[in-house]
Amino acid sequence: MVTVDRTRLRAELQTFPPYIPGRAPQEVPGLTPYRLSSNENHLDPLPAVLESLAQPGELPSRYPDDAAVALRARIGEVFGVPPERTIVTAGASELLVALTQITSDNRTEAVYPWPSFEMYPQVTGLAGAVRHEVPLLPDGQHDLDAMAAAVTDRTGIVFLCSPNNPTGPVLRHDEVARFLDAVPSHVLVVLDEAYWEFVTDPDAAHGMDLVDEYPNLVLARTFSKAHGLAGLRVGYAIAQEDVIEGLLKAVIPFGVTQPSQRAAAVSLDHHDEVLERARAIAGVRDEVADALRDQGWAVPQAQGNFVWLPLGELSDAYEEAASQQALAVRNLDAGVRISIGPDEALERVLELSRAFLEEHPDQADHPRSSGRH
Ligand SMILES: *Cc1c(COP(=O)(O)O)cnc(C)c1O
Repeated sequence: MVTVDRTRLRAELQTFPPYIPGRAPQEVPGLTPYRLSSNENHLDPLPAVLESLAQPGELPSRYPDDAAVALRARIGEVFGVPPERTIVTAGASELLVALTQITSDNRTEAVYPWPSFEMYPQVTGLAGAVRHEVPLLPDGQHDLDAMAAAVTDRTGIVFLCSPNNPTGPVLRHDEVARFLDAVPSHVLVVLDEAYWEFVTDPDAAHGMDLVDEYPNLVLARTFSKAHGLAGLRVGYAIAQEDVIEGLLKAVIPFGVTQPSQRAAAVSLDHHDEVLERARAIAGVRDEVADALRDQGWAVPQAQGNFVWLPLGELSDAYEEAASQQALAVRNLDAGVRISIGPDEALERVLELSRAFLEEHPDQADHPRSSGRH
């Protein structure tokens, strides 16, 4: 008898869960379904961006510009850095993979907050690194002292996420500077700023002001959230040239299509409008967060385009209740993350949340979050 062995895959694959994307909403008769599970921008892309996508442009038989010269030049102009200090990737997701690739293997360690972006365990786990998941403080903030203490002489990469996905708070500028002072300068520190455009807290860490001072710091950013181009897959980094040179060896050749590069550059041509729209979404976010707090929910400081309900064991029940209202939310076990969407969707969220609290009054017993600003 022939024995059939399973295909030999790396043992590291057993050490972390797969990335689970946000669900689609359930169809409920009479209700418009809304997907509030992926932190997408609910506004349409800017008209100029849609126009650029409608143009015929380059032939599909041609490879895109591998060096993304025009887009990197535009990023450099907008943020005041030479293009050599930027790189463009297939979403910030590819960047997180590449940053891990250039720093990490099974002899190194990785440090990141938890709960935070689900790709951190995935990318560092696949590299075989020993993972130090440092629990957030009760108010959803990073425990930077514990994170600094988790850094050893084997640490290859540290992730900071501001605003933190999924809980929402930002890191403060002074505390990040102090953290960077405490961490050895050869340890690569990634500041994931996927939601920086939505930040309104004046004390928040401002990556651009830190990246010149700390050569081991990398800013990870994306066109997926504030720019509303998640489907086009464009992310970028700002870092020192030696890190960028390393990244250029680790990214997929021709990973960002020409229409995507062009649309991202056009969106940056209208950067003021992008920021204005992000501020409008931030205003709605503040209203929703305050309304939920007034109902009795312990919503942490919310600085992205989403709010966090720390539901713990009731996360499944809330997700199900939302699903019955044709709303898809993101259930992350420790709680539920809800993206800022159209008004009708958010009104439904508030109604649902009020009814849920009435059925589960002990949820309101949580201490009020300190993040009311
Ligand atoms: C959405 C997100 C990203 C990257 O998304 P891409 O679509 O791959 O650019 C990175 N970090 C965080 C924290 C995110 O929420």
